[in-house]
Amino acid sequence: MKKIVLASGNQGKLREFAQILAHFDYEVIPQNQFNVPDVEETGLCFVENALIKARNAAEHTGLPAMSDDSGIEVDALNGAPGIYSARFAGAGCSDEDNNRLLLEKLKGVPDEQRTARYHCVIVYMRHANDPMPLIFQGTWEGRILHEARGENGFGYDPFFYVPSHDCAAAELSPELKNQLSHRGQALRALQAKLQVASL
Ligand code: IMP
Repeated sequence: MKKIVLASGNQGKLREFAQILAHFDYEVIPQNQFNVPDVEETGLCFVENALIKARNAAEHTGLPAMSDDSGIEVDALNGAPGIYSARFAGAGCSDEDNNRLLLEKLKGVPDEQRTARYHCVIVYMRHANDPMPLIFQGTWEGRILHEARGENGFGYDPFFYVPSHDCAAAELSPELKNQLSHRGQALRALQAKLQVASL
């Protein structure tokens, strides 16, 4: 089976990748199994950061690589935290720290102005010098809740209200979240492309 290195150490993302790609024709191996050093995410958009991470993993392993750069865009905060979603509350912060800061910044903002969306960009590179990386994206619309709900998912999921299902993302089963989510959309597009292209 052809191997692809996955440029992420985020446990929540790795779990969702494994679930969504359960019947994939490739073996997807997290980069920590190759001791790939983390790379600084110096890009100014999701696409740039996804390219940086995939190239770094391909360079250190000699394998084709895929990466996920994702985050949440909150309208009342002019799009923040965006590409800084993982480190909204500072370097090395936890999901709880980020969620606390998000709530603080949205204090007093009424429901109709708490609109937000998750974005996910997935990049696939055949090798570190690939001049034509494949880029896939997904977006998931929602709203920021006032209180945490649910135990599933990761990151901002307890505060991300999903209007179509009248619940928080963290209240959805993993299967349903993957069907609806930004990551599910982008990953299924990648899966379809790789199957057709046999890359
Ligand atoms: P990255 O690892 O630099 O791409 O940062 C992604 C960050 O965005 C995560 O650490 C979460 O804070 C947030 N995020 C992305 N996708 C999700 C999701 O599906 N649920 C909750 N938070 C997410």
